[in-house]
Amino acid sequence: MQHTDAPYDFGKSPLMFYYEVTQACDLLCQHCRASAQPYADARELTGSQSRSLLEQIASFPQPPVTVFTGGDPLKRPDLLDLIRHARDLGLQIALTPSATPLATKEALGLAKEAGISCLGISLDGADAATHDAFRGWNGSYERTWHMLADARELDLPVQVNTTITRRNVRQIDAMAELFSGEEIVMWSLFFLVPVGRGELEERIDAMAYEEVFEKLWHHSRKQPYGIKTTEAPHYRRFILERGADPFAQPKAGARRPDRPRRVPLGVGDGKGVMFVSHIGEIYPAGFLPLTCGRFPEDSVVDVYQNHSLFRALRDPSGFSGKCGVCEYRDICGGSRSRAYAVYGDPLAEEPDCVYTPSAT
Ligand code: SF4
Repeated sequence: MQHTDAPYDFGKSPLMFYYEVTQACDLLCQHCRASAQPYADARELTGSQSRSLLEQIASFPQPPVTVFTGGDPLKRPDLLDLIRHARDLGLQIALTPSATPLATKEALGLAKEAGISCLGISLDGADAATHDAFRGWNGSYERTWHMLADARELDLPVQVNTTITRRNVRQIDAMAELFSGEEIVMWSLFFLVPVGRGELEERIDAMAYEEVFEKLWHHSRKQPYGIKTTEAPHYRRFILERGADPFAQPKAGARRPDRPRRVPLGVGDGKGVMFVSHIGEIYPAGFLPLTCGRFPEDSVVDVYQNHSLFRALRDPSGFSGKCGVCEYRDICGGSRSRAYAVYGDPLAEEPDCVYTPSAT
């Protein structure tokens, strides 16, 4: 990662860039955003196009952390070449492999050697029955724990990603304790957006979010790893209501990922986040299926900085409903992906927030 003390300018550069290197995956996860298939799409960006995309990403004024996602990135034959190219461009690369027999210690070691600096591993339950039901095959839970052990032996920092739905919401404490014995740097909880195969899942209700936030707040002060939410920016409001700093520096001795020192407020879809699909479609986020252009015909830098939807997503004063008048709109603003999935309008209010702004 390119460290900088200059403040981030979300109008110019994303903080996180997600590149879906392939749609191919051997799993059939219940909440899969990509609705992945076993084989790559014939229209998938070629190696040469992917390298050009990485060069554009590196040309942002403040190059973002780039996440190689999927599908399963390990299904892409030229993955190591792409990682090396990204590393040579100075990009920080994270990899999110699926827990399949492809994710061997050797494969993870080669990815590290090629240049990844962090591994994202999905774990969606405190026990095999819960996790395997999500992932669509018995044995996924066990495979995931093997990956965690392999990453530890390879000295590869790990972020555990968990999708929260009604199936596992009661396992938050159990999962938090389970991870405390692992040398993970971050636990990232993704709150379901009903898109892709996620439409079949049940998302938790607004009151349940507050209960989950309370638990996360408790564990964030106790556990040796960081905790963050994705598609639940109202966790920042929850923390601020308790008089704390949602962007406080890590506790001394805590295992935390290598992050820029001046992380900006209010990261959200299209505002610090950008996503390019396996066939080059450009989106404000992986869970907001509104195409804003297509690579290589369009420049990702130009789309990020100038496309009307990206600009609108960065201006919470234009949001409708309570998010538009909320005193927390600049640091929260609600999930734009969930607003679109539920109301068909990416600028509508967050459907799953209990807060009533003082201006309403
Ligand atoms: S009303 Fe909207 S902006 Fe305010 S805290 Fe809730 S989700 Fe965030």
